[in-house]
Amino acid sequence: MNLTKLQEWLQETNNDLAYISNPKTIAYFTGYEMEPHERIFALLVFKDQDPFVFVPALNVEEAKNSAWNGDVYGYLDSENPWAMIADRVKQTTAAYQNWALEKNDLSVAHYQLIHEQFPDANFESDVSSFIDQIRLYKTPTEIEQLKAAGQEADFAFQIGFDTIKTGVSERYIAGQIEYQLKLQKGVMQQSFETIVQTGANAANPHLGPSMAKVQPNELVLFDLGTMHNGYASDASRTVAYGTPTAKQKEIYEIDREAQQAAIDAVKPGMTAGELDSVARNVITKAGYGEYFIHRLGHGIGKNVHEYPSIVQDNDLVIEEGMCFSIEPGIYIPGVAGVRIEDCGVVTKNGFEPFTHTDKALKTIPIND
Ligand code: MN
Ligand code: MN
Repeated sequence: MNLTKLQEWLQETNNDLAYISNPKTIAYFTGYEMEPHERIFALLVFKDQDPFVFVPALNVEEAKNSAWNGDVYGYLDSENPWAMIADRVKQTTAAYQNWALEKNDLSVAHYQLIHEQFPDANFESDVSSFIDQIRLYKTPTEIEQLKAAGQEADFAFQIGFDTIKTGVSERYIAGQIEYQLKLQKGVMQQSFETIVQTGANAANPHLGPSMAKVQPNELVLFDLGTMHNGYASDASRTVAYGTPTAKQKEIYEIDREAQQAAIDAVKPGMTAGELDSVARNVITKAGYGEYFIHRLGHGIGKNVHEYPSIVQDNDLVIEEGMCFSIEPGIYIPGVAGVRIEDCGVVTKNGFEPFTHTDKALKTIPIND
């Protein structure tokens, strides 16, 4: 059905074919999930012919046995994939003048290799924003997967909280989380590298886990997610180990209020920029605006970060079926960082989160 929409788009935009190269986009259209590393994985979609998938020879059988019912062609490592794709295109159709590329994804090197095969073709068209548009509205089946991924994130938080004690490193805690997800939940992949940050490390929002050890009376920030049947989760919680200081408590409560205000404000018809402002105003009024150094949120689906961006001045109108994160943060360099994040879906009544781990400031008793 989605491929039909892409074919209609090709016809409307006077394109003959689309070369789809992002593995997540290919999975979206075909149901076949694969990470090709440096090898070539492509979906070719024609305006009026059947599409085909092109994969390394070692993936041909799994592609044929996947949800994808269309043609599959493979290439050996010793063969030239670009010449083979060109042959297949020419066997499929006589119309290959106007190509639409996934310009957000395709490397310049790969573009040049395609261009060499079709020196007279026109490669101006970009299918990326059309793909963003159709992936923006999640189907009930996609929402089920996102909820299941959210449950795994909730489980991961419990493992993380239970592992905190004086002297264990951020990496040890991250390792336990990922190990127990694998062992107990069969999770084979995180949606990104698990973030565990203690004390002032949490003031750098994306700093990976270090060998820094948990100390009493610090905040510990977790940001984590899993992949569930090809769909991502992404959630953050910040907890106190021992007794939080007045400052730690203050920024936690402001961030929590900002996050809750944004969740409560979501309704179809408002803009992404308006939603960002709801949270930002809470933090700014409390005097910490300069410490909220990123957008409020981002879309989530097959990619952990995808369209749209919930950012100041974005006029995109929020509608039912869109899924995104709400994750205000306050980061005070050298002192502490707090982020509270839930992803969820917009319904006609508001925002339904995919994660449910409690957000009242959790204090973990000191355990030496
Ligand atoms: Mn996020
Ligand atoms: Mn996150």
